[in-house]
Amino acid sequence: MISSGMATIRISLPRVDVAPAQAPGPCPDCWRTDSIRWGTRGKPVRDPFLQTVVVHRFRCASCHVFFSHYPEGTDEHSDQTDRMRLLTQIVWCLTPSIRQAVEVLRELGCQVGRTTILKNVEQIKGPYGAYTYGSPSLKRPDFFLAADALVVAVSDEDVANWCERLIVLSENLSTEIADEPPTPLITVEIEGDAESAM
Ligand SMILES: [Zn+2]
Repeated sequence: MISSGMATIRISLPRVDVAPAQAPGPCPDCWRTDSIRWGTRGKPVRDPFLQTVVVHRFRCASCHVFFSHYPEGTDEHSDQTDRMRLLTQIVWCLTPSIRQAVEVLRELGCQVGRTTILKNVEQIKGPYGAYTYGSPSLKRPDFFLAADALVVAVSDEDVANWCERLIVLSENLSTEIADEPPTPLITVEIEGDAESAM
């Protein structure tokens, strides 16, 4: 429970599918669309909720090139899901040190080391990018994971400061935090009644 004098900030996290929900795109080589399903495989992922996702393999019927089709929120370049990457970036932005960021993420069920966090943070442009971020003088928030959001509990005196940080962060993320957000990205609730969305 959130005690009085506290506010909660709810930050929507990107959806991650267990398996591809849509048909694959065109062949990456010849751009034709007559590919044939050629099996599936499991891909281990780093994510707060999933350990493995299903990747579909296709073979182009025209040029016979094989290619993989990944579920939403995952890709071939990383074992982190989009949700995981964003989570590390937000936690980094809201904790006073990298050591505490690792701790918070571990409490949320995410085993990521500082190297991964710093690599993710390098993708943030602007004031909260890697190594330029100083310790905030505000009290560290408490973090909770909901199915589709990160919930951050802060004192209501600090809520405006934290929201400002989050808005700047979301404007500077290269991982498309704002790419078709399903709901308002950041929702603030103060002492259970006043509610506003940004
Ligand atoms: Zn082809």
